[in-house]
Amino acid sequence: MKKALLDQLDIASKVIHVGGHPDKETGAIMPPIYQTSTYVQESPGVHKGYEYTRSHNPTRTRLEECLASLENAKHALVTASGLSASMLVMHALPAGSTILCGDDVYGGTYRQFTTVFNSLHNYIFINTTDAKVVEAAIKEHKPSFLWLETPTNPLLKITDIAKVATVAKKYKVKTLVDNTFMSPYFQNPLDLGADIVLHSMSKYINGHSDVIGGALMLNDKKMYTKLWTLQNSIGPCMSPFDSWLILRGLKTLAIRMEAHQKNAMKIAKWLETHAMVESVVYPGLKSHPQHKTAKKQMSGFGGMITFFLKGDVKKSKKFLSKIEMFALAESLGGVESLIEHPAIMTHASIPKKIREELGIKDNLIRLSVGIENVDDLIADLERTFKAVK
Ligand SMILES: *Cc1c(COP(=O)(O)O)cnc(C)c1O
Repeated sequence: MKKALLDQLDIASKVIHVGGHPDKETGAIMPPIYQTSTYVQESPGVHKGYEYTRSHNPTRTRLEECLASLENAKHALVTASGLSASMLVMHALPAGSTILCGDDVYGGTYRQFTTVFNSLHNYIFINTTDAKVVEAAIKEHKPSFLWLETPTNPLLKITDIAKVATVAKKYKVKTLVDNTFMSPYFQNPLDLGADIVLHSMSKYINGHSDVIGGALMLNDKKMYTKLWTLQNSIGPCMSPFDSWLILRGLKTLAIRMEAHQKNAMKIAKWLETHAMVESVVYPGLKSHPQHKTAKKQMSGFGGMITFFLKGDVKKSKKFLSKIEMFALAESLGGVESLIEHPAIMTHASIPKKIREELGIKDNLIRLSVGIENVDDLIADLERTFKAVK
């Protein structure tokens, strides 16, 4: 298919067709896995655009083509993990930069910023859901970069990307959005005014819990070249096989995301009426504090639910060890349902005091709702509620 035609496709078609052209040499409909470290040159310096797989690999190139198109970006860079993507962004900023960052970001991002890059940059953590707080912080701290995650993890707080990006632009602050939770299927931050989008592809983009990967999508060619040069110099590149696995997983992104959200909506509504549940956080519920913003900037509400169990940490632990169909594991975004306890697991790297200030309490439980039959999932939850009563 021609590029102009590909650009017009809906995302459900793009995930299958962009980067999905038949192999020129054999006609293979599925992309070859170019499992090679190096490429033979015709004469010194004369080659087909590929010299060494740390720099470029044809399987990875196909994935990058597809990813760029999903976020309506000119460029995409695939990295070895979500955290190596954020590492590259941090190295791309001049030493001594001030970065405003959401106060409820992914635990690993928080750890990277506060224990690794805190010797290079200054980080100010703020509640980005309030554009006034963002503007006041920009005026006070004069940052050059704003790091947003929306919805956040695990509290699913929503930042109005268009509103905050407009404020940031006014002060020449660049905005990055970690779009992992929504995937490009439900939210496209560049269209809303952000400068860079980051994904942990270990989650929904790959969707099968069998690859670790990251991606950055952006339009600024100079910044892209800087990020690529850093990746080539530091080395966190993705293997050809992992690139291929993601190309394969990505093909079903549209139907997976629809299934995740359909199941999550039903479970969230059911939990909301349950006597043993204190409260439920899901962007699709009218009770969600930023439900209106969610509706405005997202085309769906995703598959993540957070709820507060009535009771103490002992009860939460019992709940997590009794449940059967939801696997007790970190991570999210796979076809199988997962359950976890942020205070003990994913967010243990955040000091208890800060955790509690943020609302990550000991009775908070996070669900990554998979695409199994939803009635089976509800039955599993109900069985577990009864078992811990
Ligand atoms: C998992 C995750 C990351 C980190 O990605 P890895 O692929 O695990 O390195 C970053 N941001 C969010 C929101 C995540 O869920």
